[in-house]
Amino acid sequence: MSTEKCYLQCINLDCKCTYDISDVLVKCSKCGDLLDVMYNWNGHEMPRNLQFFQKKWQNRNNLLDFSGVWRFRELLPFCDEKYIATIGEGQTILQCNDGVASYVGSSAGKVHLQYEGLNPSGSFKDNGMAGAFSHARMVGAKHAICASTGNTSAALALYAHSCGMEGTVFIGSGKIAYGKLSQALDYGARTIQIKGDFDDCMRQVQLVAKEMDLYLVNSLNPFRLEGQKTIMYRILEGLNWQVPDWIVVPGGNLGNSSAFGKAFAELKELGLINKIPRLAIINATGANTLFELYEKLSIRYNGGNVDTEAIDSYYAQLDKAGFKPKTLASAIEISRPVNLKKCLRALEICNGVVREVSDDDILDARAIVARWGLGCEPASAASVAGLKLLRSENIIGPDETVACVLTGHELKDPTATVNYHIERNGRFSNKPVEVENDIDEIIRELKK
Ligand SMILES: *Cc1c(COP(=O)(O)O)cnc(C)c1O
Ligand SMILES: [Zn+2]
Repeated sequence: MSTEKCYLQCINLDCKCTYDISDVLVKCSKCGDLLDVMYNWNGHEMPRNLQFFQKKWQNRNNLLDFSGVWRFRELLPFCDEKYIATIGEGQTILQCNDGVASYVGSSAGKVHLQYEGLNPSGSFKDNGMAGAFSHARMVGAKHAICASTGNTSAALALYAHSCGMEGTVFIGSGKIAYGKLSQALDYGARTIQIKGDFDDCMRQVQLVAKEMDLYLVNSLNPFRLEGQKTIMYRILEGLNWQVPDWIVVPGGNLGNSSAFGKAFAELKELGLINKIPRLAIINATGANTLFELYEKLSIRYNGGNVDTEAIDSYYAQLDKAGFKPKTLASAIEISRPVNLKKCLRALEICNGVVREVSDDDILDARAIVARWGLGCEPASAASVAGLKLLRSENIIGPDETVACVLTGHELKDPTATVNYHIERNGRFSNKPVEVENDIDEIIRELKK
């Protein structure tokens, strides 16, 4: 145990190696496991209750109080204020949505949507980048790099530019939604398309970052997760500091779910909440590693004693079968989630469940969410499709309070939306009709 106010620690209980907060590491140098940002809370001045944060809304001219991440900086105190990176991230809303409640079979007033599409780059990734780029500035990094299914690259591009750093992104060839690609290019990131999928990019980017000494901002970076904890703080704030019964989130690389577990464990430890919500993580059926491992093979965190052999043999099977993940929810088309172990820990902390939902169910849910006012991209709607499934199984009760995280904006992937309406014949498809350029024909069509 370190006596520093803040340090990095390996999550492997047999190792628990600690590192200085200003070290640039995304994995333990000794055993290769993931790292946590750890705080000796006694060394920090802590608020006595969560209402403390609400007052900051009154200082909206102070950039740190304006940021939906740094407004909560007492809960992620790893960085001197002079290094903090912020572009106004986290101005997101929690909307109580009875249209969606009715669709999933919940009572009115019980279903809330945490709409992260309102972030500057249009996805929750900005919360994490605010954390990672603050650390990057603290250590004097010059060049940030990531692998991305799209949104990470958009967020990297925006933050790298605003911090005066170079940015490079690796994306799988032909695998990225147009809205996201347009952002990476537009904001000036060097964009490398690798002939492979996200998992291939993720492998390469770790090797390249190490070899070339570049600053990696994928969610392996523990400072990303510090920023993403604040999504949960904002949900609590939206619920007037009442803890909901359930948080539902799509699962890709599992950074969000890992961050959420850490957020709640810390709030509980600090005595700022007295109950921890349950966590439901939703995979797409075409990219369902977590579902297979957790629900089918019953792999558990087990207080830190994870059955890594069983996981390795599962991955060996995927390799042998030449498995490639496939889903229209491209942001979660990932078969080797890098944060798996931290996510298992979060599932233990939050007494969690994992489900898989089909692309059809995701796209129908996406259309319903959009129709009720919050356009989101397909991956985001996995949370609502997952809630509908968990309601039908009665794992989630009709009167339980639920917050679904809508991770990204609808305009990230307009192709998915248009294809749904024109080609897919989904439950809520709304096909355009073509008529002759003739007033009688137009009126005849409108009277149908
Ligand atoms: C990155 C992303 C996800 C996956 O989140 P993880 O933290 O990697 O599990 C889900 N939805 C959207 C829109 C994303 O951009
Ligand atoms: Zn270690």
